[in-house]
Amino acid sequence: MNKILTWIDNTPLPSSNNKIFCIGRNYKAHAHELGNELPQEPVIFMKGSNAISSLSPHFSLPENRGLIHHELEIALLIGETLKNASEEECRQAIIGIGLGLDLTLRELQNHLKSKQLPWERAKSFDGSAPISNFIPISQNTDLQNLYFSLKVNDEYRQQGWTGDMIFPCTKLLSFISQEFTVDAGDIILTGTPKGVSELKAKDTLECTIQGQQTHYSVVV
Ligand code: ZN
Repeated sequence: MNKILTWIDNTPLPSSNNKIFCIGRNYKAHAHELGNELPQEPVIFMKGSNAISSLSPHFSLPENRGLIHHELEIALLIGETLKNASEEECRQAIIGIGLGLDLTLRELQNHLKSKQLPWERAKSFDGSAPISNFIPISQNTDLQNLYFSLKVNDEYRQQGWTGDMIFPCTKLLSFISQEFTVDAGDIILTGTPKGVSELKAKDTLECTIQGQQTHYSVVV
């Protein structure tokens, strides 16, 4: 438990053994921009603990791996073990919100998808999930009324509102917990709104969550 609380206390994320559950196609407009059908149930994939990195003022991207897309997403920090959990139990277990960048090697992903192969090489490479510090939340925080945005080089790329999610946060977590044990310290990346686009070396980023701004830049 201490470890989780220190994440909230603005210390860097440890390189941990925790898992990241990622949700695909959870915003209608984003599903459409990539030419995907709307899902009937949550689309889930995972990133390994190797993917977790701190979304720090300067972060790096892999080199010579083709097109890299940013997907800005609301990250949920889980505070207790969940298995076959109800939505109410899930709500109580969500102890923090933050931002995550689901970095994606898009050309490689499209190649793998075209061959009907798994996505991990495009999605779970080292450092592919820079995660911000977490803001503690209370039971009164409305998880479906959060605004977040990403500017790259001073231009808006992504502006999201969690009310647009196809599957809301507690439904996602409950669904996940039916098939996977969710451990304290695990993170859920809840899907990206439209506007995914290329990230390059030397880009500068400005991210906001609920009006709180943080600046980042990409170093090679
Ligand atoms: Zn994503």
